[in-house]
Amino acid sequence: MAGLLAARVLADHFPQVTVVERDELPDGADARRGVPHGRQLHVLLARGRQSIEALFPGWGGDLLAAGAVLLQLPGDVQMLTPAGLVDRRAVGFEALSASRPLIEATVRRRLCALSGVTLVTGRQVTRLRADDRGVVGLVTRDRDGAEAEVDADLVVDASGRGSRAPAWLTELGYGTPRLILIDPQLAYATRTYRVPEGLTADWKAAMVLAQPPSSRIGGYLYPVEGGRWMLALMGAGGDHPPTDDAGFTAFARRLPHPLIAEAIADAEPLGPAVAHRGTTNRRWEFHRMQRWPERFVVLGDAVCAFNPVYGQGITTAALGVETLDECLRGQRRRFPEGGLDGLAARFQRRLARRNVLPWSVSTNQDTCFPAAGGARPGVAARLQYGFLDRVLAAATWDPAVADVDIRVYGMLDRPTALLRPHVLAAAARTSVTDRRERRPG
Ligand SMILES: Cc1cc2nc3c(=O)[nH]c(=O)nc-3n(C[C@H](O)[C@H](O)[C@H](O)COP(=O)(O)OP(=O)(O)OC[C@H]3O[C@@H](n4cnc5c(N)ncnc54)[C@H](O)[C@@H]3O)c2cc1C
Repeated sequence: MAGLLAARVLADHFPQVTVVERDELPDGADARRGVPHGRQLHVLLARGRQSIEALFPGWGGDLLAAGAVLLQLPGDVQMLTPAGLVDRRAVGFEALSASRPLIEATVRRRLCALSGVTLVTGRQVTRLRADDRGVVGLVTRDRDGAEAEVDADLVVDASGRGSRAPAWLTELGYGTPRLILIDPQLAYATRTYRVPEGLTADWKAAMVLAQPPSSRIGGYLYPVEGGRWMLALMGAGGDHPPTDDAGFTAFARRLPHPLIAEAIADAEPLGPAVAHRGTTNRRWEFHRMQRWPERFVVLGDAVCAFNPVYGQGITTAALGVETLDECLRGQRRRFPEGGLDGLAARFQRRLARRNVLPWSVSTNQDTCFPAAGGARPGVAARLQYGFLDRVLAAATWDPAVADVDIRVYGMLDRPTALLRPHVLAAAARTSVTDRRERRPG
């Protein structure tokens, strides 16, 4: 996703853009080897949708035409928090729900329709080519081992968690970036079902959030194209969902609320559950390196990848692409006659600043798990959790608070929106019993 969106922005700045993809791509919206996480449920946050539609106007219509499900959030979604059900009278926003392969396929189709963009598939990037000042291109290899050199004015690495950028930088003599890992020991398992015919529920999707420390498991049931539900079960701290039929169903029954287990009881599974464990919060500190090559940038999961339960990955990748666009526009103002000097290092610094917020959203709670690594939460962080618990409790009975909360969750508003007077007042009014106990587990 990061690479496709970046290519769209690059097409505004360069006459020719080549996307190199290791996989042979399916014609339709099918899962593929290079994106194993594509088999897991993906929830696209509102801010991410906004960003993609700005790059590809009308893309939401493409997704809907391909079968995506329109949801009002929270009107159509049962969001069961530890304090209860988020008030569904909140205005919230419209969301589109589709499988990750469909989201990707519709974006790719739009990208490939642009003149000047070429997609090269079945070729893996194996190394960078560089001169004294920076990167001048790369080397690709096909399945038979045949290598090809590609020249480039700018190389963008968007190859995900498995990116070799840190090793390439080391090999080129730029040093080795620092890696920060916070591992909540979370695992996912996703299974697809046919939505039961004649379903009369007054909701379209359900989210049962974990209740640490008493319960570290959660489940999201979302409708996707093809009249299907995707159910993602997740468990942290080593309490992982099994993939066998009986184990998966039993895990769903252990969720803090029976809604999801009851919903799937009569639903026909369309295949086995698929597990995924690569969920560690992982951030490369490229922006702190002493030296950085000209004409080489890294973005998306290759820089900063998150515990996926907050659904921030695609949206954060899209925000990174917006940052790249801003940097390229700034460069043109600075050097109207052309030239990319300083752009790459400047971009990595700005990207790091933009990633601070989603990183803290994703890692704050994870540091509560003793085995996660990273700094344990201090007094200020514990006060912050206490406040957020109160806001969540208020969101169960005050639609105005629920509205702000949902917009912050969708990354449409910054968390400072939670400091608005009516939110503070409602949070202060929640009773002690509304609030859950949240101590390090
Ligand atoms: C279990 C799970 C659930 C998730 N749920 C959500 C969610 O609900 N919402 C959300 O927004 N995000 C979610 N994410 C995160 C989201 O998938 C990513 O953040 C997002 O896809 C951005 O990743 P990317 O494009 O940087 O990398 P990837 O999606 O990993 O894509 C990398 C691409 O590069 C290709 N590639 C890799 N190496 C090479 C090479 N050497 N040469 C050529 N090509 C190469 C790969 O084949 C692939 O196509 C989830 C992630 C996981 C693991």
